[in-house]
Amino acid sequence: MQLQIENLSKTYPNGVQALNDVSLTIQQGMFGLLGPNGAGKSSLMRTIATLQEPDSGTIQLGDINVLTQKDEVRKTLGYLPQEFGVYPKVDAETLLDHLAVLKGITNRSERKETVKALLQKTNLYDARKKNLGGYSGGMKQRFGIAQALLANPKLIIVDEPTAGLDPAERNRFLNLLSEIGENTIVILSTHIVDDVKELCSDMAIINLGRVLYQGSPSKALEAI
Ligand code: ADP
Ligand code: ADP
Repeated sequence: MQLQIENLSKTYPNGVQALNDVSLTIQQGMFGLLGPNGAGKSSLMRTIATLQEPDSGTIQLGDINVLTQKDEVRKTLGYLPQEFGVYPKVDAETLLDHLAVLKGITNRSERKETVKALLQKTNLYDARKKNLGGYSGGMKQRFGIAQALLANPKLIIVDEPTAGLDPAERNRFLNLLSEIGENTIVILSTHIVDDVKELCSDMAIINLGRVLYQGSPSKALEAI
């Protein structure tokens, strides 16, 4: 399974060219997309997540044509936007259980098992009865991952996830992502060099809508 992006371009109605002939090949594992604010990261992530249309170019996820088979992509995609919202007045276990119903897991004991495994994987089991409104930033992010994993995604996109997390929460979150990257494509979009340096097996640097580099983090970032 790989994600193949070819010659993607997008100019917004205000004349800003957010993507300028972007081509990337992304394999299973943790992929870092590094670039300053305004580089085009969110535009690229939203386009891959089928939330906006490019002007031109193609995106292929395994045998799925992302731009024409949107329903297929959405079934197998986990997307955590920058401002990830949660319902504040419901606890994690209840919400995951409801979401599992919506995902079609109607067997009660199977659902309990699934939800428990996800809570344990994301280190939220002890806080499963707590309302999401009382969660810290890192807990909310990890809940977002638990929710995303319900879909058994082949691709997970995480946009600027470590902003506002304290160092311990940040490490915990990045380690979770890297664990998930063992059998999924995980794209980590960030302007923080260290996020990419530590855990990504492959990366790209993007600025002003153009890909400046794709390759190993150690080669690109040894000077930084
Ligand atoms: P990043 O995520 O790297 O900060 P974005 O993709 O959000 O970059 O933005 C790339 C450029 O496109 C920026 O100049 C931004 O202001 C502009 N932009 C983003 N979204 C829109 C939009 N909906 N309409 C117009 N311009 C936009
Ligand atoms: P960031 O630059 O922090 O990644 P975004 O680009 O995602 O933030 O912007 C948040 C929202 O504002 C998005 O829906 C985006 O489309 C919109 N937006 C961003 N820049 C512009 C812009 N210059 N004109 C119009 N909408 C914009």
